[in-house]
Amino acid sequence: MALVVQKYGGTSVGSVERIQAVAQRIKTNVQQGNSLVVVVSAMGKSTDTLVNLAQQISSNPSRREMDMLLSTGEQVSIALLSMALHELGQPAISLTGAQVGIVTEAAHSRARILEIDTKRLSRHLNQGEVVVVAGFQGVTCRQDLEITTLGRGGSDTSAVALAVSLKANRCEIYTDVPGILTTDPRLVPEAQLMAEITADEMLELASLGAKVLHPRAVEIARNFGMPLVVLSSWSDDPGTKVTSPLPKPRSLDGLEITKAVDGVEIDTNQAKLALLRIPDRPGVAANLFNAIAEQQLDVDLIIQSIHEANTNDIAFTVAQDALQKAEAVAHAIAPALRHNPKSTEEAEVMIDNKIAKIAIAGAGMIGRPGIAAQMFRTLARAGVNIQMISTSEVKVSCVIDQAQCDLASHALCKAFEIDSSTLPITTSSSSSEVPAVRGVALDRDQACLAIVHVPDRPGIAAQIFGLLADKNISVDTIIQSQRSRIINELATRDIAFTVAQDDAQIAAAALNELAPDIGCGEITVDTAIAKVSIVGAGMVRNPGVAAQFFSALAAENINIQMITTSEIKISCVVAENQGVKALQVVHTAFGLSKKV
Ligand code: ADP
Ligand code: ASP
Ligand code: MG
Repeated sequence: MALVVQKYGGTSVGSVERIQAVAQRIKTNVQQGNSLVVVVSAMGKSTDTLVNLAQQISSNPSRREMDMLLSTGEQVSIALLSMALHELGQPAISLTGAQVGIVTEAAHSRARILEIDTKRLSRHLNQGEVVVVAGFQGVTCRQDLEITTLGRGGSDTSAVALAVSLKANRCEIYTDVPGILTTDPRLVPEAQLMAEITADEMLELASLGAKVLHPRAVEIARNFGMPLVVLSSWSDDPGTKVTSPLPKPRSLDGLEITKAVDGVEIDTNQAKLALLRIPDRPGVAANLFNAIAEQQLDVDLIIQSIHEANTNDIAFTVAQDALQKAEAVAHAIAPALRHNPKSTEEAEVMIDNKIAKIAIAGAGMIGRPGIAAQMFRTLARAGVNIQMISTSEVKVSCVIDQAQCDLASHALCKAFEIDSSTLPITTSSSSSEVPAVRGVALDRDQACLAIVHVPDRPGIAAQIFGLLADKNISVDTIIQSQRSRIINELATRDIAFTVAQDDAQIAAAALNELAPDIGCGEITVDTAIAKVSIVGAGMVRNPGVAAQFFSALAAENINIQMITTSEIKISCVVAENQGVKALQVVHTAFGLSKKV
């Protein structure tokens, strides 16, 4: 007999008929000998309807009252599903998050789960009942017993957390698509179902816009090695498995409050190449990286951002022994990259082989903007200047001066309580069966903030991102310009980054207050952007992938505004109205579309 936690999303319980169909499926599962805990979301779009009601009353409702309101949606569906099970003669009981004992921290609207008391659940399961649990909600442990919610889409997280706490055999997420597809089938009907995906890849996809799973659910499954599968509540097809490496043993206390950083990684075998003042037009990145790929050179970090006078800087790192060839390619291509066809000013090539890449890694940093800020602060206190920053959901990498590498790694190990001094950067096994690109995602809810003329000295990134972290704003892509400009005898750089659109105005207001302190220039906000990303564990040591991505966009005349990469993803920011087209062409370019 297996103990299984199943979760049914909003569409799956969106009507009386759907609730009855789900009840039938549950009953059949029990008859096959399984013990079931079933987590449900609110019916259909009812959470959105509640949000809308609140907005009609207040433009800035209190988070506590929002939790009070939104948690009612799930209470409706658990009761109805239990009744439907009773009608089928299946013993069942519905329980709210508080009744189950899903204890969370006191952060309304984004609470993390601290622990789940499984006594009551076990009692009902032992009595042969199906326990139907309200997803996305919990309760604080203080005597006030405040109702909290986990954040939109959080029922997936409730389900995996329950599975882990109950030591269930597996967790099944039932939804309105057949599983995890190569991209959102609503935007690209040719998207294909995947049989499996690694938790690392899914974490990236989920946080880059593939809302089929809540990223925190993937994080918990990965941390505890819980078998997780996503499948359709309409069919009996096997769906998609999310695979996790064998986890280190962990305690269930502070379930979602795990140590943020598992390791500090350094790589001193890198060199940096930058092309400055290249024209801001489609095809430039494609040309450059095609030429690099033709030489079979592996590129690691790539960072591009637009700067003053509508020209771009592209910077990338390569292994030191590849620097000479890469430099030759960059010099060969530079004359063709004139900003103004009539001008004689060419793109400038800048190289630096005295750099090191230093990174903090760990699934516990997801949704905790304070961790990156802590890294920047630690480096600043050690007097280390940051030359390039690249962020992913589970890693923050900084390029620094090689001479400061030991100092930096020592400071970071101390700050994040990592005992082993430094680990080498893992070049994950890119075995032949791992596809270079597993999936493609589009995020249309981001905004780009840019700050010009930021003084180039240690501590500035820490100040900026520390301030945003204090406001609980997660920052995604962070890019610093490579060129520096002297203002009032001080070297300055431009910094651009993306945040969720909802946070953009708050972030801009906070930075405007900070601006006089750090002495930076203007702060601009652009909400008309979209971020297209490719994700795949196999792109490591696969030089052609970036070139192929940029070429697909260039072929459609889509201009790339920003580029940022991590080991397993490449993201490009493009104009919002070109986002869907970009997603479609990139999906096709990597051969992910169904053959018809
Ligand atoms: P639920 O209510 O079941 O939690 P969601 O709407 O949260 O459902 O998630 C399912 C939706 O996620 C799908 O209908 C699909 O449009 C969207 N989606 C986005 N990216 C992907 C992807 N890569 N694979 C599958 N679905 C995706
Ligand atoms: N009902 C909540 C939402 O719509 C939680 C969930 O469905 O996962 O966000
Ligand atoms: Mg969902």
